[in-house]
Amino acid sequence: MALGHRTGLELVPAYKQGKAPEPGAGGGAFKLSSNENPYPPLPSVHRAVVEAAADLNIYPDMAAPELTALVADRFDVPASSIVFGAGSVEVASQLIHAVASPGDEVVFAWRSFEAYPALVRVAGCVPVPVPLDDAGGHDLPAMARAVTGRTRLVFVCNPNNPTGTVTTTAALEEFLAAVPAGVLVVIDEAYVHFNDDPDSPAGVEFFKRYPNVAVLHTFSKAYGLAGLRLGYAIAPAEVAANLRKVAVPFGVTALAQRAGTASLAAEAELQERVDVLIRERRRVHAALVEAGLPVLPSRANFLWIAAGGRTAELNQVLEEHGLAARAFDGEGIRVSIGTPAANDALIRAAAACRNALA
Ligand code: PMP
Repeated sequence: MALGHRTGLELVPAYKQGKAPEPGAGGGAFKLSSNENPYPPLPSVHRAVVEAAADLNIYPDMAAPELTALVADRFDVPASSIVFGAGSVEVASQLIHAVASPGDEVVFAWRSFEAYPALVRVAGCVPVPVPLDDAGGHDLPAMARAVTGRTRLVFVCNPNNPTGTVTTTAALEEFLAAVPAGVLVVIDEAYVHFNDDPDSPAGVEFFKRYPNVAVLHTFSKAYGLAGLRLGYAIAPAEVAANLRKVAVPFGVTALAQRAGTASLAAEAELQERVDVLIRERRRVHAALVEAGLPVLPSRANFLWIAAGGRTAELNQVLEEHGLAARAFDGEGIRVSIGTPAANDALIRAAAACRNALA
């Protein structure tokens, strides 16, 4: 057998990081390609990380006891159901490895988080992508129909990356009623803090009511800790036990754990930043709609411009304005909400964007 070859890997694209920006005509350069929080860490979080750095010669506590207790308290869930990983993308991978055997199927909406199909294939499983509906949202009835005897897991990304759409509580209830109890439904809530739709479900409430629901949370977005890699699942106890088995030992650093506890202690302060980002999202959305761009309503910290066959042209215009966004060829462009200056630059580019689409 050829060196460096594993059967099936030829189908897996390497994950592509969001592009870095080049200065545009106006001189500005804004990275809006990875849905990062534009704010630097809070001073209290920074201090906690620096303090934790004094013990870098020591392995981290794999049970993350303080952080686990805080999350358990915050959501009123058992500590035994909480499992941390190096970012929620790692926990998503672990969830697949914990519940699905090679050849089993994993259902998800498409387009959604790019990592899903790759993680599924790396686990030797079969990705079952179900097209989004015409409004860019999850087609939950079609996803329920896509579940077969081989399905072990379904990802529901709420809000959805990259379209920013949300599912309703009623639609999720119907979906869960239709899905067999042996299928784990993972509600990926990476952007939940930005979701201000009262009709959209809180994943943790569903975890409490259904024995086959898990929730994925991250510290990368609302908490602004993307660089430290910290995420977690709240999962049924038997799934959580298996997550601990498939996890690579010591995957979550002490620095990340301390930053996580300091962030939870500063939630109110962080929420103020989230509120600003939500207000900015509304402002940018209104301006882009006003300029005639096909932009979807979003409940996340990014917007989706449905540029279709004109995506490359639109991306070119954004680059000329110093804006690095995430383009999906032939489909559209996802652009993160950044600092007011970055958002202003996007709004200034809007008329040129419309011309590129005409
Ligand atoms: N889920 C979704 C829907 C995402 O968009 C992302 C990040 N882009 C993640 C999970 C993973 O985030 P992290 O690994 O940084 O927690």
